[in-house]
Amino acid sequence: MSDRKTAIVTGASRGIGKAIALRLAKSGYNIAVVDACDLDKSEEAVNEVKALGVDAKAYQCNVADFEQVGNTVTQINEDFGGIYILVNNAGITRDGLLLKMTEENFDSVISVNLKGTFNFIKHATPIMMKKREGRVVSISSIVGIEGNAGQVNYSASKAGIIGVTKSCAREFASRNITFNAIAPGFVETPMTAVLTDKQKEAMFAVIPLKRYGQPEDIANAVNFLCSDDASYITGQVLSVDGGMHM
Ligand code: NAP
Repeated sequence: MSDRKTAIVTGASRGIGKAIALRLAKSGYNIAVVDACDLDKSEEAVNEVKALGVDAKAYQCNVADFEQVGNTVTQINEDFGGIYILVNNAGITRDGLLLKMTEENFDSVISVNLKGTFNFIKHATPIMMKKREGRVVSISSIVGIEGNAGQVNYSASKAGIIGVTKSCAREFASRNITFNAIAPGFVETPMTAVLTDKQKEAMFAVIPLKRYGQPEDIANAVNFLCSDDASYITGQVLSVDGGMHM
């Protein structure tokens, strides 16, 4: 497509993923917008990205499906001629106390959030290794560090992402591929819009900076970890949460 480097952003049609896609586009990367079902929304995101002067394309892919991810990564590599950045952002919640949590709700959250991250890393890293450079940033969560009542499945998936990040950072350091995770606190997106006012107020009360996070706050941190300024940073978990976790 062009000689710009390419970034894959999963779950990029809305919320944090879309903000990441736009921020990386501003830094001059071509963007592969990956999403599960809403191709119209992905096309909207693609058009917004293209308006910033880079190339972009939408890919419909369930991150939890190993084979689909393999085919998608191959297609992206063919379309753009390489992959430099992978942002594992796609994620879901299926909240409930452990005593009420179904096996299906445990499995689906682990499949999308954790296995989806593994699937993309597994298929993208051989391409990065050939060029001996790459950046992988995966979106964890404050609850992957601290735990949270009602989110056994989600916090396990997000803690798992931290384990994957640190292990891969060690495995791929000699290939000049860095792996880092970001742990957002409370960010205003469609994911958190479903919470009750009472739940939101309880969150607000424990945010030292006294404002909710915005998708751009996370996108700026991803952009930093993908920049040359972060070339000596790997295996880290960066909290972007207004000071909730210290
Ligand atoms: P969101 O608004 O619900 O967006 C999630 C995105 O993931 C959507 O674009 C969705 O696309 C995509 N997605 C879901 N399942 C998928 C699948 N199986 N395959 C491919 N794409 C899939 O959520 P968000 O708040 O922006 O969250 C983004 C990430 O940040 C998530 O990993 C989340 O866990 C994490 N995070 C968020 C917060 C917060 O406060 N918002 C805090 C900590 C961490 P479709 O609609 O096409 O399914």
